[in-house]
Amino acid sequence: MNGITAREKLVTDMNEIVKILDSAKVVHVGMIDGDEPYVVPMNYGYTLENGKLTLWLHCAKRGRKLDVLRANNKVFFEMECGIQPFEGDIACRYGISYSSIMGRGTAEIVEDVETKKAALTYLMKAQTGMDFEFEDKMTTIVSIIKIDTIEFTAKHRPLPKS
Ligand SMILES: Cc1cc2nc3c(=O)[nH]c(=O)nc-3n(C[C@H](O)[C@H](O)[C@H](O)COP(=O)(O)OP(=O)(O)OC[C@H]3O[C@@H](n4cnc5c(N)ncnc54)[C@H](O)[C@@H]3O)c2cc1C
Repeated sequence: MNGITAREKLVTDMNEIVKILDSAKVVHVGMIDGDEPYVVPMNYGYTLENGKLTLWLHCAKRGRKLDVLRANNKVFFEMECGIQPFEGDIACRYGISYSSIMGRGTAEIVEDVETKKAALTYLMKAQTGMDFEFEDKMTTIVSIIKIDTIEFTAKHRPLPKS
C-alpha cells in the first residue's frame, strides 16, 4: 500500500529520489514518547547504498529527543521539497505541487568517533553541497543519530496541466 492518489506519482527512479534528498534540507522525525507522538524537525545528511537509505542527524548532547530515542528507537520520518501552491477556478482545484519522501526506521545514537566524523561530512554535503573535514575534537560537542530506514516511499505531485 503506497497511498498514491490520482494526482500523485510514485517516484522510484533513484536519481529523482536523490534530487529530493539533496533539496529537502529538513526532515521531520516522528518518535514515540511513551504513549504520545513526538516530532522534531532536523537537518540531515544521507547515504544511499544499493537502495538502502540512511539518515544522519546531529544535535546537542542532551534533550528530549535523545531521551525518547533511548527508550524507543522506532521512528517515522517525512521530508519535502519543491513546494509550489497553485490556484484553481473553484476552491477544491487549488492545491500544492511537491516532492516528498516518507519512511520508517530505527535510530541509533552513534558513539564511534570515525563514524561521527563521517556523519558530519554527509550532513554538510547534503546541506551545502560542499565537502568538509572534521577533527576528532569536533565530534565531542555533538550527538549523532543514525536512522537506518526499513522502508521508504517517494512521491511527486506535479502542477496541474493548464
Ligand atoms: C528547520 C529546523 C531545522 C532544525 N535542525 C536541527 C538539527 O539539525 N539538529 C537539532 O538538534 N535541532 C534542530 N532543530 C531544532 C529542533 O527542532 C529542536 O528544537 C531541538 O533539536 C531540540 O529538540 P529536543 O527534543 O532535544 O527538545 P528539548 O530541547 O529537550 O526541548 C523540550 C521541549 O521544548 C519544546 N521545543 C524544543 N524545540 C522546539 C522548537 N524548535 N520549537 C518549539 N518548541 C520546541 C518542545 O515542547 C520540546 O519537547 C531544527 C529546527 C528547525 C525548525
